[in-house]
This record gives sequence, C-alpha cells and structure tokens, in this order.
Amino acid sequence: MRGAVIHAPGDVRFETVDDPKIEKPTDAIIRTVVTCVCGSDLWPYRGLEPIGDPHPMGHEYVGVVEEVGSEVTAVRPGQFVVGSFATSDNTCANCRNGWQSHCLNRVFMGTCQAEYVRIPNAQGTLVATDEHPPEEMLPGLLAVSDVMGTGWYAALAAEVRPGGTAVVVGDGAVGLCGVIAAKEMGAERVIAMSRHEPRQRLAREFGATDIIDERGEEGVALVKEMTGGIGADSVLECVGTSQSMRQALHAARPGGNVGFVGVPHEVAVDGEELFHSHVALRGGPAPVRGYLPDLIDRVLAGHIDPGKVFDLTLPLAEVAEGYKAMDERRAIKTLLKP
Ligand SMILES: [Zn+2]
Repeated sequence: MRGAVIHAPGDVRFETVDDPKIEKPTDAIIRTVVTCVCGSDLWPYRGLEPIGDPHPMGHEYVGVVEEVGSEVTAVRPGQFVVGSFATSDNTCANCRNGWQSHCLNRVFMGTCQAEYVRIPNAQGTLVATDEHPPEEMLPGLLAVSDVMGTGWYAALAAEVRPGGTAVVVGDGAVGLCGVIAAKEMGAERVIAMSRHEPRQRLAREFGATDIIDERGEEGVALVKEMTGGIGADSVLECVGTSQSMRQALHAARPGGNVGFVGVPHEVAVDGEELFHSHVALRGGPAPVRGYLPDLIDRVLAGHIDPGKVFDLTLPLAEVAEGYKAMDERRAIKTLLKP
C-alpha cells in the first residue's frame, strides 16, 4: 500500500510502505476512508521536534473494518468506524475512570496517513456507526477522532459551565472546535483570540460571541475589560507555546480554570505565580474515546459541524502539499482522501 513518510523537516513523501497485518489478537485493520494532517504534525515538519529515521505519519482516521483479530468482537469487517488517536482497551482502571488516553495498554496512532491502518486495542478503541454515513458527514466524523474530541476535553478541563465566560487561546482546528465545545456546554460568552480573518469568521459561526485579535498582555487586558476586570471563568489553551500558556493563565480569573491541550513545547509554568493566581490547571492528551459516542451522535444529528475546520481537501497522494499549505497557513486543516 501507499502512505505518507516523513524523511526530514519539510520533506513528507507519499510512498510504498508495508501493508499492515494483524499482529495481535486485539488488532483490527481498517481501510482508510478519510484522514488528515494535524497541527501537531507540523512540529516535526517544521524541525521543532526530532524526526530520527524516516517514519509514517498521521493519527486521525475513519475507515471501514477489513479484518479483525480473534479477540475483537465489538466491530466486524464491513462496518464504518471512528477511533481515537490514542488507542485504549477501555477496560483497565484508567479507562474505567474515564482516562482512556492514559490506558495502561495505550498505543498512540502514528500511521494513519495511509491507505490501510492497523488499530491496536481495536475492541476498546473503535466505535462503529449503525450505517455507512453519507459523504458530507465524513469531515465531521473525522474531526471527532481528534480535534473535536480534544476541543471537547479542553472545555471540560477548563470547567466550562452554563452561563460562564470562556476564552479560547489559539485559532487552529482544535481551538475552533473548543469554541464549539464551549458553546455546547452553555458558556454565555465565548471569546476567541484570533488574528486571522477566515478563522475569526469560522469562530463566530461556531458560536464565538467576541473576537480579540491582540496577543499577549494586550489580549489579556482586553479579556479583563470584558469580564469586570477579573478574567474569564474558563480558558482553553490550544497552542502549546510558552506565550500562549502565559496568555491563558493570565486571562483566567482567580478561581478560574485553564484546560491546556496544545502539546507544550518549551513551556515552563512559574510555580509561585500559579500558586498566587488561584487558577486551576489541567491538560494532557484528550481521552477522546470516552466522548466518541456522544460526539458522533451530535455530528450525525447535524447538531455540530466540526468538519468545517477542513478548508482544503486533497487526494492522499498529494499529502506533501497538504503539509505545505498548513505550514504556510494557507489552510487551517487538510483533509486527505485515499
Ligand atoms: Zn485501558
């Protein structure tokens, strides 16, 4: 089969790779229906994360089951399935506590920008839909497998409450999905921090009530102006830089919560400052598996449409251009069709 392989910063190639095979009785093989490029794929692409030997890429997927291992009974060949970027058995102590992305048997996906994918822990990871969904639902369901699930977790971690104020730092796909989540959870005011006009428009469409295009302390000052001088109840940090984290922590009110889901790169939190701020902080890879049934229902019911974050669709064979377009910010997120 063919799939994306990263060789060096800026060098992603579509090439022949080994066909995936059932390696453990808990595996499944799926035929990829759609996959995509994640903002976090840009870290190695930009040379900000070591690459090592050339390796496959991609952790977002929806597909049709081709084959299952002997212990997989929850899904069967022919079914359309959605999974999570972190696989989980969904039975261990961490999974039972709702932290499937910290499963004791967790395997992170990393080969999904390809025609076929092996899914470890398939029994606990994959959720089948009743029918094969119509074409127009595919982007939304694909978004659920990572960015929408991650935005949802950011809002939960930031303890968004009905009637509250939520600030979203970051206007990438996850931040935009965080806007959807904050609105769904009943925030009265959703303030999106974005300086890119097309993304601002999408944020408004998703439910943002206010847009702030200043960054750093100027942005924080505007949040405070909008919140009686104290800051927001909930802040969703969806970038992962030291600047965005500082901005998020400073935008939260005393007693407020920051949910951080941007993978931190050289982020250091000042313990003394955090102590005196009375701000609560929770982050990490989102336990997306736990939200899948609910989020799939919301998408299929047409209640939310996170698929709108995909503003570029390419054949999988043109995956290199998909990376380039996102790197140059010509696209928010690239959808790839095998
Ligand atoms: Zn588990």
